[in-house]
Amino acid sequence: MPAWQVPLADVVVPEDDIAVVAEVYRSGWLSMGPRTAELERELAEYTGARHALAVANGTTALHLICIAAGLGPGDEVIVPSLTFVASVNAIAYTGATPLFADIDALERPWPSAAAVEAAITPRTKAIMAVAYGGHPGEIAELRELAASRGLVLLEDAAHAIGVRHEGRHVGTFGAAGAFSFFSNKNLAVGEGGALITDDDALAERMRLLRSHGMTTLTWDRHRGHAATYDVVDLGFNYRIDEPRAALLAARLARLDRENAQRRELDRRYRELLAAVEGVVPTAGPAHHIFTVVLDERADRDGVRHALHERGVQTSLHYPPAHHFSIYAAGAPELPLTDAYAARAITLPLFATMTEVQQDLVVESLAAALAG
Ligand SMILES: *Cc1c(COP(=O)(O)O)cnc(C)c1O
Repeated sequence: MPAWQVPLADVVVPEDDIAVVAEVYRSGWLSMGPRTAELERELAEYTGARHALAVANGTTALHLICIAAGLGPGDEVIVPSLTFVASVNAIAYTGATPLFADIDALERPWPSAAAVEAAITPRTKAIMAVAYGGHPGEIAELRELAASRGLVLLEDAAHAIGVRHEGRHVGTFGAAGAFSFFSNKNLAVGEGGALITDDDALAERMRLLRSHGMTTLTWDRHRGHAATYDVVDLGFNYRIDEPRAALLAARLARLDRENAQRRELDRRYRELLAAVEGVVPTAGPAHHIFTVVLDERADRDGVRHALHERGVQTSLHYPPAHHFSIYAAGAPELPLTDAYAARAITLPLFATMTEVQQDLVVESLAAALAG
């Protein structure tokens, strides 16, 4: 791997964060306990949701919200193909069938509410909205659509911690929302996730399912609050551990500042790219990933290669899920998703990116497109 002049993303773990984690290891209590409880209070307050549950990763959060929504065999769930495969897998884990929807346009790479409405069949039970790149897409319209058609709206908000739209945090528009705290996400701890909901019954069910369907936690028994437990549902071990919960709480305190830096970089990218022929940014702001669409005649992979030669790391978000072998059978034609997947590039974006780095990205892109 070359030494990148500009990596796609960068995780900075300051000494203060390491001290927070070390302190937890010294405390002698390592799995879900007081730090997790504190993190959950903070996440609920931060997002404005009634309940927040911290879990092992974003995929487990998605799985729990799909189960809590009552999904099962015979149900269809409308989901974008242009997402990380976990959004789709979480639906499939329950036995329900993912139904792929095309994106609205190359510059609006998420399904419109109208496209979602057109995909509804008598078997449709839910909509899985994905805040692509941290953009809310048409989440408010999807909320109205779900309400009017009696569908459950679920939100994959893995890219959208700290993103508010029409006065609400993304993830609170639907019945439940899931976040990821994977290494390359805006709030990163390696592996970690959370889900939020305003619904007391859903929260209770997901709390049980997170820990084997057991009615009490080890922490409760440790504190003498419970002697034994019953198992009332087919649950999982989707718990988070205390070091990561403490690290998340420490990093959450910096998130708004870091997201503001990302927003400023997003603004500056748009300003600089306006002068470059043959490339258009997708609709913003992008809080998480910054994607551009190249002219139809451009050699996308050649452009990526030229950027790599100059030390600029890029990526592709995403190989469309409807082409993966596991989902390809019977998948619909999604021409805009295919065109986007062939022409889009993800450019570097991270809170500590400098203007010099950003200039190098844009100059390298302009040179590659001109050459
Ligand atoms: C990262 C991501 C996930 C999965 O989260 P993990 O924490 O890696 O399990 C789900 N959906 C989207 C859109 C993601 O980007």
